[in-house]
Amino acid sequence: MGLTLPILETAPPTEIAGEERLRDSHGRYITDLRLSVTDRCNYRCVYCRTGNDGAQYSELPLEEYARLLRIFVSLGIEKIRLTGGEPLLRAGLLDLIRETATLRSPFTTEPLDIALTTNGHLLAPMAQDLKDAGLSRITISMDAVDAETFARITRVPGSFERVQAGIRAAQKAGLGPIKINCVLLRGFNEGQIEAFAEFSRREGVIVRFIEFMPLEEDRTWTPETVVPMAEIVARLNNVRPLVALPPNNPSETARRFTFDDGLGEIGIIAPVSQPFCGHCSRVRLTSDGKVRTCLFSQFDHDLIGPMRRGANDVELRSRIRSMIERKEARHHIGEPEFLKPSRSMVHIGG
Ligand code: SAM
Repeated sequence: MGLTLPILETAPPTEIAGEERLRDSHGRYITDLRLSVTDRCNYRCVYCRTGNDGAQYSELPLEEYARLLRIFVSLGIEKIRLTGGEPLLRAGLLDLIRETATLRSPFTTEPLDIALTTNGHLLAPMAQDLKDAGLSRITISMDAVDAETFARITRVPGSFERVQAGIRAAQKAGLGPIKINCVLLRGFNEGQIEAFAEFSRREGVIVRFIEFMPLEEDRTWTPETVVPMAEIVARLNNVRPLVALPPNNPSETARRFTFDDGLGEIGIIAPVSQPFCGHCSRVRLTSDGKVRTCLFSQFDHDLIGPMRRGANDVELRSRIRSMIERKEARHHIGEPEFLKPSRSMVHIGG
């Protein structure tokens, strides 16, 4: 554990009017931005939240997110993922998506890729509106394929059926390929791996298993709570022989597989047992306007402060470049010097 892939160049440089795309000091091009539009959440997942709801929430007005998104895209961001907290709780989200859909990176002719990660509880009645506003695709978090285990993990009774309806509505609205994210947590849901394989094959969705990372509000993470990639692969091979698929792009976080009959698609995201920091292309903007260069950063870079004090776009662009320049080489999970990050996943934006 703790070893990482060598740092790779993620794409060739592109010069535009003497400017280069965002790049860190390790040679990685930063093309993906995750924006948390709220740190409120309507779930209390055992591996994420404390179960109490006493925390203070912090959100910016949507116009401020919109301005920051425009500046990031002008620097070469090509993919934006809206997240939270639970992004569907945020009033005005459709307006923000509409506005974002008008942006174009000057470094590519491709349209901006706008994705969203949701727990799906509020999705069914919103799916078509999200598509119409300009959302490209959706990822739905679902940690169990039966209602009882699902309620035990989310601590919200009666939500499982709503999430199923959300998945169907997203498929109908054309928000595919639908990805279903499942965080595996020893003692809670590792027994569901085979059933998730069947779910992928039956429902035509991509199921992605994610190793549990030390990003929770409670201090529940230990190496023993992680269900590692090797174990997931072994169990899936008992369903049917797995066949590896090539990555969709160089900075893909998931190892992709199908089964020997070509039915179903499984992704395994293994930041703990098989770190992929060497080709990380991501940066995060928290709901309170801080730039986070790594999930496991010990501090954030303030962007909203200078913006509110009147910094113009040129100044903000230069600040962002200097923040990205200092992006961490890798995380240190599993190493003696590992320190838990300064914020938990729900406050960073997953
Ligand atoms: N509320 C939305 C949702 O449920 O998808 C978006 C935010 S949530 C924090 C984003 C993703 O992070 C979810 O798939 C969640 O399961 C995952 N996540 C939260 N805590 C995690 C942890 N400690 N390790 C790995 N994944 C985690």
